[in-house]
Formats: sequence, C-alpha cells, structure tokens
Amino acid sequence: MFRNELKEQQPVAYRILENSLRNKKLAHAYMFHGPSGTPKKEAAYLLAKSLVCEQSGFACEGCAVCDRIEHGNYADLRYIDGTVTTIKKQDIIALQHAFYKTGIEEGGQKIYIIDHAENATADALNSLLKFLEEPDGMMTAILIVEQLDRILPTILSRCQMIPFQPLTQGQCYQMVRKDLDEINAYLLSSMIRDPKEILKVSESEDYQHAFYLFKGFLNEYKETPYRALLFLQLESAGKKQKLNKINTGYFIRMLDIFFRDCMSDHPKEDPWYQKTIDAMHMFQIDYTKMIRILLNVQDTLLRSVNIPLLMDQMVYEMKEATK
Ligand SMILES: [Zn+2]
Repeated sequence: MFRNELKEQQPVAYRILENSLRNKKLAHAYMFHGPSGTPKKEAAYLLAKSLVCEQSGFACEGCAVCDRIEHGNYADLRYIDGTVTTIKKQDIIALQHAFYKTGIEEGGQKIYIIDHAENATADALNSLLKFLEEPDGMMTAILIVEQLDRILPTILSRCQMIPFQPLTQGQCYQMVRKDLDEINAYLLSSMIRDPKEILKVSESEDYQHAFYLFKGFLNEYKETPYRALLFLQLESAGKKQKLNKINTGYFIRMLDIFFRDCMSDHPKEDPWYQKTIDAMHMFQIDYTKMIRILLNVQDTLLRSVNIPLLMDQMVYEMKEATK
C-alpha cells in the first residue's frame, strides 16, 4: 500500500499528514513541495482518499471510494494539470462553477489537486485560496510544487507546507531495479535521482549507446589504454551513431562512477563490473588524477565543438595516470 511506501520514503511528510488526519486538524490548503521524482502526486491522491474514506486516519486504499479516487471517477475531486499549460484565474473560476453543479458525492467534501502549481498565475492561486476560506465550503486544495521560489509568499502563508526530501541513490536504485538489470539500475541511479526520468533515459538511444561505449572502452582499457583509444577512434569515425554531447556526457559520467568504485572495497553485484574493477587493480592507477581528468572533460564537453578530439585528449591523459 502506498501509505507504507510514503512512511518509509518520506517520513516527514508522512508524520505531518498522519497527525492532522488523526487529530482531524485539516487545513484548507496543502502545499506538497519537493524535487521532481518524489511521490508528491501519489501522496496528494492518498490525502484525497483519506478525506473521503470511512477509515479514520489514512485511507484504507481498498474500498470503492478509494478506488474511484484512484481512477479519476470521483466527481468531487478535480485534478488540474499545470505541467503543460499555465492555469489562469478564469480557469479556476470556470472550474468552481462547474464544480458546484457536479457536487454530487455523499459527504460534501470537495478536493482540488493542482499539479505544478508554480505554473498557475498568482491571481489564479489567490482566487482559489480565497474561495477555500469561505466558511461554508468543505473544500481542500492540494498544491503540488517543485519550484517553491516561484510561489508568492502570500500564497505560501495560506498553505500547510508538506516537504518532500530528495530521493537517495539507494531509494532510486530500489525503485528502478525491477525494471532494469543490476548494472544499469546502479549507474542510472548514481546519475539521476528521479525513477521516472531514469526509466525514460534508460530507453533512449543516447544512453544505450553510451553504455555500449562504456563496456567496450573498459574491456579494451583493461588490456591496454592504447586499445581503448583505438576503440573510441573507430567508434567516432564512420559509425551510424555519432558521438554527441548527450551520449558522451553519459559515457564520461559512467567512467567517473567506475573509477570511483575502483577506490572502494565494497564489492559490486554485477559480475562483469566487479571483474573489470579487479582487472584495473593489475595496473597502478592514480585514481584521484583519473577522476580529476574525467571531471575536467565533463566541464569541457559543454563548450566543446570537436568531441572526437576531446576523447583523444582524454584517453592520452588517462594513459598518463595509468602505469
Ligand atoms: Zn477507503
């Protein structure tokens, strides 16, 4: 059940919501704020369910009412998506009229969820919040926000704040591991802290090409750095998939993760990855220097016009750090 996930992953948000539900001290407006990838929308739906489910405290997440909320079939819940369009004052007013007409559910509780509320105009949010504070209204608004600095203080002050903490690498890894193999789940969760974004990136041609380069490059490097150089030169000349800033960026970051792991004693699950780390220990590598080289390349890449040349230079420098 989602509430258990929330408890484990976002203990602060969980505790605040649990207290207000248990003590029935509910606010007119909540602001769920935190970085992309945190389960703010799921939590908003959980709160919506908890406001109408017969179970006290958090919702049961299993009854017919909870089920209708989950599937968007609850007439007195409105989900407004600011992800793609700006929400204007007229939109809110039109919505409120429509909302009154369709307020047909038992209990009278009405709920707005406004996703990406930073994309609503200040006028729109103000008219919504004023409306919520009218005494006869059994209404709750849940604003979901990623960029808090884009919300006016006058609006912030009228909302109960529910903070969502960024996910850790370990949490992201656990969340994507069922969809990805060990090594890709590991590399991607080390680079990106947003499970949905990870799954999207994992399917992109740029990421897949970068992963192919990463494996091919290290397989050659563990023989000699020269072979790795040759491998990259062959890959950047005449192949269908060219090096670009995106795939090269992923490739460099994978190397960075890999050489950092070479310095750690913690064994890695993926057999190829661990074997390659072991093979690197046959050389005398100055890993600190290696990581500095890779960080420099990540910087230079943004400004670079000739990526194959940049890769050549990188391998020469890496060779210098390898004895
Ligand atoms: Zn329920």
